[in-house]
Amino acid sequence: MLKIEHIGIAVRSLDESEKLFDSLLNQISYKHESVPSENVNTSFYKLKETKIELLEGTSPESSISRFIEKKGEGVHHIAFEVADIYIEMKRLSKAGFILLSQEPKPGADNKLVCFLHPKNTNGVLIELCQEIK
Ligand code: ZN
Repeated sequence: MLKIEHIGIAVRSLDESEKLFDSLLNQISYKHESVPSENVNTSFYKLKETKIELLEGTSPESSISRFIEKKGEGVHHIAFEVADIYIEMKRLSKAGFILLSQEPKPGADNKLVCFLHPKNTNGVLIELCQEIK
């Protein structure tokens, strides 16, 4: 694990939340991206090495929409940058963590990603991410 790459926050409306985060962080979002495979729209802010990713579900089946339905808006996941996602997935699986996919998936922001089941991580959804070179 190299660093916290970003913190993902589940929001009902990107439009509404961007107003809030523009004001909070005193900057505007530098990137919008849709991830159709996950039914989410994302918006990114950058604070030096770390990013904030706002996530809005685009359908009721989206994991973000279901998360908000259950828990309300708020911190959804913490993403750690890794040097080699395949090696980290193997290491964590061996250590007893549950991977939510057996292969890394293309995520937002030009990354390969894999999530760990929160039941083995004190309730925190963990994302591993590696930049696609
Ligand atoms: Zn993320």
